[in-house]
Amino acid sequence: MSRIAVSADCHINEPADLWTRGLPRAMRERGPRAATVDGRACMVVEERVIRRFGLARDAAPRDEPPREAPPGGYEPADRVRDLERDGVWGEVLYPSVGFFCTYAIEDPALQVETCRVYNDWLGDLYGGSDRHAAVGMLPDLDAQAGVDELQRLPSLGIRSGLLPMHSDRRPYNDSSWEPLWEAAAGLGIPLSFHVGTGRSQTPHHGPGAAVVNYVVTVGSAAETVTILSGSGVLERHPALRVVMVESGAGWLAWTLEAMDDAYRDHHMFVTPKLRELPSATFRRQGAVTFQRDPVAIANAELTGVGCLLWGSDCPHPEGTFPHSQKSLDEQLAGVSDEVTRRIVCTNTAELYGIRLPDGAV
Ligand code: MN
Repeated sequence: MSRIAVSADCHINEPADLWTRGLPRAMRERGPRAATVDGRACMVVEERVIRRFGLARDAAPRDEPPREAPPGGYEPADRVRDLERDGVWGEVLYPSVGFFCTYAIEDPALQVETCRVYNDWLGDLYGGSDRHAAVGMLPDLDAQAGVDELQRLPSLGIRSGLLPMHSDRRPYNDSSWEPLWEAAAGLGIPLSFHVGTGRSQTPHHGPGAAVVNYVVTVGSAAETVTILSGSGVLERHPALRVVMVESGAGWLAWTLEAMDDAYRDHHMFVTPKLRELPSATFRRQGAVTFQRDPVAIANAELTGVGCLLWGSDCPHPEGTFPHSQKSLDEQLAGVSDEVTRRIVCTNTAELYGIRLPDGAV
């Protein structure tokens, strides 16, 4: 049998009309909704287009045949079918259009209700599942509402809370976040920051823009790691666990080193003073997920194996579904069984409380 794999990054395809059905009537016109704009199917929030569907992916050059049609669906039976087709045992389950919409909202009250609608729906489908760790969305604009929604998650059977990768309107080193960090640490709920949320994914245009935008989007997770470590958030809340999702991990070894360089060699500018180097708290309390990342694997000794979580990103086309085991074979050739097992299975299972199959050690 192939190795037991648990994906730290999978996505549910939520119905596009979830919010037009679920939001309070007065908000439905402004909440996330499907619409046709300039002849293209889109998701719209407030008055802005957030996602366009039907991108011309096939225009990109390929060195392999087109992948099989990605699966869809949000029913647990569909998710199990996809996992088994992919040779993956369990998954941490994120939204798809939901997070792009939620973290683009400008009205704090609308954002709170958008999260509530999603979390109620998610809890009904996956609450208490120990093979799918459902991740609920937390509002980032209204501090108290974020704490209130986090505290609701356990009663919904939801195992983790999602925040945007960047919260520029209320940065993560702002003291107004303290109650949320404290609540998450106290409840033992890991917090996830998924790439592509909280800032535009397409800040650049013109020649090369798609390549630049991808590198900027995934690489900016280093900024969030540094804010949480360097500001003392992680040190003040030693039970808090944070995960950067779908960021890749090859940049992490350098980031840990750069944080410590800044802290030590530019100490005259640094506040607050910390008991430990910033890298030490992140190594203990943080993690990052990747799909294919030979640089991350080569640097595992520098980052620490505990920081690395593999994820398939199923069912998104940039992920490893439905060939995850083959992808793992290729990128983990030569890596010890023990290190492989932690990166591919037990780090994620332990962090999110995913039950492993009977007989798995
Ligand atoms: Mn993902």
